[in-house]
Amino acid sequence: MFPRVILKGTMIKKSQQKRRTSPCNYKERFFVLDTQDLKYSERRPGKKPTLKGCIALSRIKCVEIVCSDVPIPCSYKYPFQVFHDNHYLYIFAPDNDCRQRWVKALKEETKFNNLVVKYHPNFWMDGRWKCCHQTEKLASGCNEYDPMGYASKGPLPQIPEPQEVDIHDPGQRVVVALRDYTPTGDNDLPLHKDQEYILTDTSHAEWWTVQDNMGWYNKDICRGEAEELLMREAKEGAFMVRDSRQAGVYTVSVFTKAPGSNGEKNPRVKHYQIRETNTEDFYLAEKYLFPTIPELIRYHQHNAAGLITRLRHPISQDRVWLRGSSKKKWEVSPTELSLGQEVGSGQFGLVLEGRWRDRKVAVKMVKAGAMSEEEFIEEARVMMSLSHCKLVQLYGVCTQVTQDCPLCLLFEFMDNGCLSDFLRDKRGRLSQVSMLGMCLDVSEGMAYLERNKFIHRDLAARNCLVSKNNEVKVSDFGMTRYVLDDQYTSSHGSKFPVKWSSPEVIKYSRFSSKSDVWSFGVFMWEVYSEGHLPYEHRSNGQVVESLNAGLRLLKPRSAPEPVHLLMERCWKEKPEDRPPFAVLLHELASLSDL
Ligand code: ADP
Repeated sequence: MFPRVILKGTMIKKSQQKRRTSPCNYKERFFVLDTQDLKYSERRPGKKPTLKGCIALSRIKCVEIVCSDVPIPCSYKYPFQVFHDNHYLYIFAPDNDCRQRWVKALKEETKFNNLVVKYHPNFWMDGRWKCCHQTEKLASGCNEYDPMGYASKGPLPQIPEPQEVDIHDPGQRVVVALRDYTPTGDNDLPLHKDQEYILTDTSHAEWWTVQDNMGWYNKDICRGEAEELLMREAKEGAFMVRDSRQAGVYTVSVFTKAPGSNGEKNPRVKHYQIRETNTEDFYLAEKYLFPTIPELIRYHQHNAAGLITRLRHPISQDRVWLRGSSKKKWEVSPTELSLGQEVGSGQFGLVLEGRWRDRKVAVKMVKAGAMSEEEFIEEARVMMSLSHCKLVQLYGVCTQVTQDCPLCLLFEFMDNGCLSDFLRDKRGRLSQVSMLGMCLDVSEGMAYLERNKFIHRDLAARNCLVSKNNEVKVSDFGMTRYVLDDQYTSSHGSKFPVKWSSPEVIKYSRFSSKSDVWSFGVFMWEVYSEGHLPYEHRSNGQVVESLNAGLRLLKPRSAPEPVHLLMERCWKEKPEDRPPFAVLLHELASLSDL
């Protein structure tokens, strides 16, 4: 039986760089998808097409759009990925509809393959994944792959690192909704699957601010307010559409610095009424007619066509509010949170399972007097902006949930609980690969904290959690600073984690990323001893004595010699002699290649 052609068309392909030294390039190719293969060929006028590549559909393991804000150097701006064998093929479609057609068709044809469980939503670039910063190209993905749809877990994919984008650059940062989203709060925008949105703010780790393509419409703004907002923005071509005083009529208000003809003040805001012809078409200054207002605006975003300037920067009241407001974006409303069963208890109190928006969360109920709440809330913004696939994400805080709990913290839910319990449960059944994988996971999370100059202060297996997919993530980073319990915070206290602490922490409370490295050495020891307590039968005092005498933990039986050597490098007396996490991560990764 001959294969049946499903789709064909011209798109741009990025070289797959199968060899490390091969240069990167972008080439226009004619793609054909049939029921057996995805083929691409070069077409030159007057010449026979030459087949340049052919991927059997049976070898494809993942097809998904690429969500990225990196500038795309070719003329087609809508990337998607085809992961096959051990290669990533990036294809750039000319528009979003075209990309959707290809991704849908390819997914349909490959849905019964041996697919990946997780994929990378962003590009592999400059030796690392832009999404999760893993440096191994074949490292498992960081987002769940949904072969049947475009769904990912959140309303938008997780972003690599917090950053402010240039929100005055409309159209430069376009994202596509992976699924529908129904708002739960007043300020949320409903999202429609596959629709494009303009990214306006990515400073929040979990929630991006986007504008829909009507982001310029401000219903309840009068002329004076519009002028004030636009003057405050002070950008040539900043504009908005608003309701006129006259019912059913709309006005475009636009800011300009262009000199006026008859003594108008400069800079100023000009107002144009949107007029309607008797054939129900819309136009502005001159008779360029459009059947809808969005089409009219889109046209004038590119052409002044009689206006004082083209409409360059859409301004919405909401955006101005977000930028200028001191509202705590990390505060979650109690009405959005529902509480479930208890999953554990810790220093601050009970930990419950809960639901917030459409996700499962772990809710730490902070009991009164256990935490210096004000200081924590001050820091919550920084902690929420830390976002990495190997860190347990803080989603937000909620005040006054119940009467005896003034504050609770919402975290990413980790189905397999705390790592020290997990290690003990699995004792005798853990493979070398999984033990090394745990160390690698945690070193990645810690390398991220190190890059962001954030000190954990209490790294240990008990403060790492295990996900549904047995991935290990670092939790509780920086939290000891808010514990109100001397026994825990003073290095002489009975609860102080002496056995994980470096000499300079024990002696002078001198915390640094290098004191975290010491704790990481003890963490590796915990992993390879399958959850045994370090210095099990010795008191804190005895441990301090033996450290002072230059003694260290012994090699756990399961630890290969190179891993034990790494532990010993973490336990160098002087902090500067210990390797940074960036190096540890690299060395652990090279051990996992062996
Ligand atoms: P604390 O920070 O108050 O000392 P812990 O972080 O030690 O609390 O949490 C206590 C227990 O609650 C953990 O051992 C674990 O079983 C459970 N737990 C904590 N955080 C989560 C989470 N994000 N997902 C699932 N379970 C969690």
